[in-house]
Amino acid sequence: IVELSHVDKHFGDLHVLQDINLTVAKGEVVVVLGPSGSGKSTLCRTINRLETIDSGTITIDGTPLPTEGRPLAQLRAEVGMVFQSFNLFAHKTILENVMLGPLKVRKKPKTEAEKQARDILERVGVANQAAKYPAQLSGGQQQRVAIARSLAMEPQVMLFDEPTSALDPEMVQEVLDVMVSLARGGMTMIVVTHEMGFARKAANRVVFMSDGQIIETADPESFFDNPTSDRARDFLGKIL
Ligand code: ATP
Ligand code: MG
Repeated sequence: IVELSHVDKHFGDLHVLQDINLTVAKGEVVVVLGPSGSGKSTLCRTINRLETIDSGTITIDGTPLPTEGRPLAQLRAEVGMVFQSFNLFAHKTILENVMLGPLKVRKKPKTEAEKQARDILERVGVANQAAKYPAQLSGGQQQRVAIARSLAMEPQVMLFDEPTSALDPEMVQEVLDVMVSLARGGMTMIVVTHEMGFARKAANRVVFMSDGQIIETADPESFFDNPTSDRARDFLGKIL
């Protein structure tokens, strides 16, 4: 459903993405690993067109990435993204945060958007926080609301860029649990994370990046137990 073919990108002299080829099938969960600065966030950001690419192609569900205007808003609705920081609207309630996209972009009627938002908040375990404002929630709760807000758009793919790395340790698991249940529910996901437990439990495939290149692609078991490249071995040695 997501296909990157010969994608290249530079930041000035830095060749941040080098001939990236990656195909993610519907329902597949791909975990992207790699050292700091290897291009993981940039890769995610190109997929929902927060960054442009220099050459190559990216298609979502067979449609090449659009460039601007309406098609771009449409793309952003199809490709949900959850970042390290939660980016909720501070002056809107939790319920309003989740309803906003469906109302504005999907043009849903208000009653329908509200019902859907309450259902999704229930799924991520924060239904009882609906009337509160983001600052009144813990980091783990806010991140679950951020996931809910993306889900409300009914995306075809969800991108996660280190969704738990800004959280206090005791809140990491509640967010990972939501992600695992999404994965089990068949959501197509591309996840940048250092949470190896999540990768082992939920990933169909691990992609290891270093210096802007995909060095290795493997199922989680063989990657963690038997990395083939020196760079992957070195990386795993540092984080495990
Ligand atoms: P981390 O694990 O630290 O999040 P990453 O793998 O996500 O790292 P990226 O954020 O994709 O890495 O960055 C890859 C490289 O591109 C880094 O060297 C970074 O400094 C550089 N870079 C990222 N964004 C920009 C930008 N907007 N302009 C210039 N250079 C950038
Ligand atoms: Mg990053």
